[in-house]
Amino acid sequence: MNEKIQHIAATEWEIPTGFVPGMRVPGRFFLSESLAKGLEEGALTQLANVATLPGILCNSLGMPDIHWGYGFPIGGVAAFDEKTGIISPGGVGFDINCGVRMITTPLTLADIPDMKGLIEDLFETVPTGVGSKSPVRLSQNDLSSMLLDGAKNAVELGYGMKSDISRCEENGAMPGADIEFVSKKARQRGVPQCGTLGSGNHFLEVQVIDEIEDAATAKTFGVAEGQICVMIHCGSRGLGHQVCTDHLQVLEEATKKYRITLPDRQLACAPLHSPEGEAYFGAMAASANYAWANRQVITHLVRELFVKKFKIAYEEMPLVYDVAHNVAKWEEHDVACGHNGGQRRRVCVHRKGATRAFGPGRKEIVQEFRDAGQPVIIPGSMGTSSYLLAGTAGAMEKTFGSTCHGAGRVQSRSSAKKQLTGEMVASDLARRGIIVRAPNAATIAEEAPDVYKPSSEVVQVVHDAGISRIVARFRPLGVIKG
Ligand code: 5GP
Ligand code: MN
Ligand code: MN
Repeated sequence: MNEKIQHIAATEWEIPTGFVPGMRVPGRFFLSESLAKGLEEGALTQLANVATLPGILCNSLGMPDIHWGYGFPIGGVAAFDEKTGIISPGGVGFDINCGVRMITTPLTLADIPDMKGLIEDLFETVPTGVGSKSPVRLSQNDLSSMLLDGAKNAVELGYGMKSDISRCEENGAMPGADIEFVSKKARQRGVPQCGTLGSGNHFLEVQVIDEIEDAATAKTFGVAEGQICVMIHCGSRGLGHQVCTDHLQVLEEATKKYRITLPDRQLACAPLHSPEGEAYFGAMAASANYAWANRQVITHLVRELFVKKFKIAYEEMPLVYDVAHNVAKWEEHDVACGHNGGQRRRVCVHRKGATRAFGPGRKEIVQEFRDAGQPVIIPGSMGTSSYLLAGTAGAMEKTFGSTCHGAGRVQSRSSAKKQLTGEMVASDLARRGIIVRAPNAATIAEEAPDVYKPSSEVVQVVHDAGISRIVARFRPLGVIKG
């Protein structure tokens, strides 16, 4: 670890101001000692760079899945003051509202004698990979409704149940979406891709719950040991990517116009209430809503297949929760910066490869889960465990109600492909009883379990740091990769 970094608690580290010129607040990140050894200097510098942005509050924060990203590190969280703060696409990411959801089933392992057959059927059912075709026919008007109403719109079109909506962060539709700022090109990319998984890191995984850590909360969330679940990870496809690209151009100009000095061009940004900042926010929110609709349509396809194949009822596959992990949002927080008390303020929280983890009592959490804290879904890899956690009061105090979003990558795609082939990885997983299916073998190599940090260690850090708590552990059985 860089010698300027201070180890301030078992799982907490501080980057002092002065680490890079112009830091307005210290950096703070969460890692165990062993994970800290693997921290890239580049990600550390990025975390420090974020601390130079105007209006940043308390700390530039890094979750334990931190790694290098575009502008902000992935695993980065930063909250900005409404009057003096900025909004930056680099703090959201190209895949706006990339996120994860989990649905449970009434099945156990014994009900699925042919896992390979199930994975093959899922691969046929859910459009996967570059250029796959949407199961939904959208007119431009339909797309507009989807950009405004997100998951609710998908449910109205017949893709899901009413009860799904309140199980999504933001009820599956962020306020503030403004379709005026979604370009024609972005819309063209969005029309044929709704209900598709996408490529690369995105996946759909069949899992079994193999350990319950907190029985009471598991019961509240509706999960039990031995239960088969499905986890879906995808985002806003080409539409969100195009929105990010379009607005980055505008915001690069805005950075100059508002005389914001940046240590890195990738942090292009504009004041929150400037026309450029508001335009990006509106388009970003619309893309986020598209992503919720996308995950909702995929959920429907999965449920229909399970109904047909296992003779179970559609209603027996409830959504546990759906979380966004690439987004910027207006939220109210007691801004105390580690001290007691603090004033409740409206701030703009950027979560880039980070998950909201609101603690008990927050009104944003659906009533039935409010006393437990928000469900938080953390994927591991196709060969390691994934987790269900709950948000905590600790997260409200330390991280603006945020936690990690996954295990986090440690090896680049290109380096993985040099060392491994898809066949090697697939047969290794097969020996462990895990089936993987992808449009091409290269994807499997790029997504091998070893390219990610050990999920158990990463999740233990957020648990020990008190910024979320472990509820249940999930073991992968079969996965389709985009
Ligand atoms: P990202 O959104 O950054 O691409 O990925 C989020 C996280 O998903 C990664 O950090 C990794 O821990 C996890 N992940 C990637 N591939 C898989 C997979 O095939 N299965 C599961 N369960 N998790 C995965
Ligand atoms: Mn994504
Ligand atoms: Mn993601």
